[in-house]
Amino acid sequence: MLRIHAVPAFQDNYIWVLEDGTHAAAVDPGDAAPVQRFLDERGLALAAILATHHHADHIGGVPALVARWRSPVFGPAHDGVEGLTRALAEGDRLEVPALEYELRVLDIPGHTAGHIAFVHQGSEPALFCGDTLFACGCGRLFEGTPAQMSASLAKLAALPGATRVYCGHEYTLANIRFAEAVEPANLELAARRARESAKRGRGEPTLPSTIAEERATNPFLRCSDPRVVAAAERHAGRKLEDPVAVFAEIREWKNRS
Ligand code: ZN
Ligand code: FE
Repeated sequence: MLRIHAVPAFQDNYIWVLEDGTHAAAVDPGDAAPVQRFLDERGLALAAILATHHHADHIGGVPALVARWRSPVFGPAHDGVEGLTRALAEGDRLEVPALEYELRVLDIPGHTAGHIAFVHQGSEPALFCGDTLFACGCGRLFEGTPAQMSASLAKLAALPGATRVYCGHEYTLANIRFAEAVEPANLELAARRARESAKRGRGEPTLPSTIAEERATNPFLRCSDPRVVAAAERHAGRKLEDPVAVFAEIREWKNRS
């Protein structure tokens, strides 16, 4: 039985640790110390490190973990991450060492130029998407265009609805506040706010979410919905010709809010 844990790091990062009781793999270990503590507490051996993109809050802990465990590092082929054991890109398959857990790789550029996602298909489908898709939000466009980011998000939105979304940050409540400004009449969004606020009140992560929840409430996946289009056009003060223009407008709106 494989379990997936949220190991908090820095202000609001989550490092996802997969473990079977003996071995573990860490996704986006920006800091080695909390991962090492987690492994020590449970007597786990680190068998693999996975990285979605090159930002320090996702890979900063890799050298220290490699020094301690000699674990192989799997990460994006085109994102400037050094020291990879194996460089991955769209269509690649990875059998996570020691864990009997298969992942498929998607290229999802936009936040960074070479950002990748890891997808697990099976009885408990899972998506590890770094800083591209967030719960009720999406990453900033540091190295990509709105067209690239909306194509990447569309790829993730097309995954089965039951897919659990393991993203890199706890931004959910702030994202929901913004989503409600875009879609005040979305009842699923109001229900989600109540649900996620309760989790935070108990000190729990809001993650993972699911692709179905994101499709219903995440404005960045809803750029073809008439209500989202209308809100974006009202904010822009002009007609927006396609879903990419709608996406670009609400991304800018979020940046300034
Ligand atoms: Zn990032
Ligand atoms: Fe990040």
